[in-house]
Amino acid sequence: MSVITVIPGDGIGPEVIEQALVVMDGLGTGLEFDVLDHVNASTFLRTGVALSDVDFRRVSASQGTLLGAVGDPRVTSSEYARGVLLRLRSDLDLYVNHRPARLLDARLSPLRDEQRRNIDCVIVRENTEGLYAGIGGILRSGSTEAVAIDAEVNTYYGIDRVLEYAFSIARRGVCLVDKSNAVRSGGSLWQRCWAEAKQRNPDVPVTHLYVDAAAMKLVSDPASFDVIVTNNSYGDILSDLAAEVAGGIGAAASANINPHTGYGLYEPVHGSAPDIAGTGVANPLGAILSGAMLLARIGREEQARALTRAVEATVTAGRCTPDLGGDLHTKEVGAAVLAELG
Ligand code: ATP
Ligand code: MG
Repeated sequence: MSVITVIPGDGIGPEVIEQALVVMDGLGTGLEFDVLDHVNASTFLRTGVALSDVDFRRVSASQGTLLGAVGDPRVTSSEYARGVLLRLRSDLDLYVNHRPARLLDARLSPLRDEQRRNIDCVIVRENTEGLYAGIGGILRSGSTEAVAIDAEVNTYYGIDRVLEYAFSIARRGVCLVDKSNAVRSGGSLWQRCWAEAKQRNPDVPVTHLYVDAAAMKLVSDPASFDVIVTNNSYGDILSDLAAEVAGGIGAAASANINPHTGYGLYEPVHGSAPDIAGTGVANPLGAILSGAMLLARIGREEQARALTRAVEATVTAGRCTPDLGGDLHTKEVGAAVLAELG
């Protein structure tokens, strides 16, 4: 039997994951869920352990992981989040962050123009290097002469493999987003790998945009994009932008994957949202759609499509949490999706 690890995590994480599990049970997936509900900030504060070796082995022995959110205002050091998320991303080498932005219902888009609302793109974000590699430090810290440096790490290996993934999922084309006119060294390496990837994939239409222009175009003409491939930090920012333009971060799903091993960690794009935790209004659709992505990746495409259709029908019927303009609670949205599944 297929085993899926579940890490509900912190804040609204457990609330939205509960609904994802309810609807996946309703689908009759027959999957076994190994729920690690002790992996959270409270455990870290008590024991100093973010993710134990035993838990890591449980994760890596499973078919995939569904994660709620990691983060808590009581934990000020980055050690906790790094210990869970970054450990999973780096030790399982989940080098692709795949974030679809697809409009679930026209009413949700903040864009007026109907033309622009036909949003159906994927942001492929490099997930293991770039500006978030954690290399750097502060010189003359505390003085008025202080200098802070964060190095951006780009390797041929890292760029090449994420570009290859982007080309492998292209339907209408691939757009490279960088800032090679200003960030020279990394920019030229991305450009070199891009030129090689294009040669290997001559049939795929390609475009290139600087990140500032890409941000503009994601608002002015988001429907023109298919696959956007970019580095860790630009991908972080552009995928939040794309999620909002496509109707709101509460319904956005993401996957951290290693296309070679097939392993994936699926999580809603939103974080722990401590401001609304415990109030029952968290939107569970991002978590539910992350579950659908997981199902698709482990070979259950039909169930994934059924779940996605049920989510769309729920949104179209206006059965949403307040962030999407509805008045339902988290559990009621889960129940509505379940009802749509029939
Ligand atoms: P973290 O540090 O874990 O990323 P955060 O404080 O940045 O947490 P996010 O989860 O990134 O919070 O979300 C930002 C804001 O968007 C939240 O404060 C919340 O008001 C809103 N929000 C996020 N997710 C949801 C959701 N699922 N449903 C409703 N509102 C949400
Ligand atoms: Mg956040």
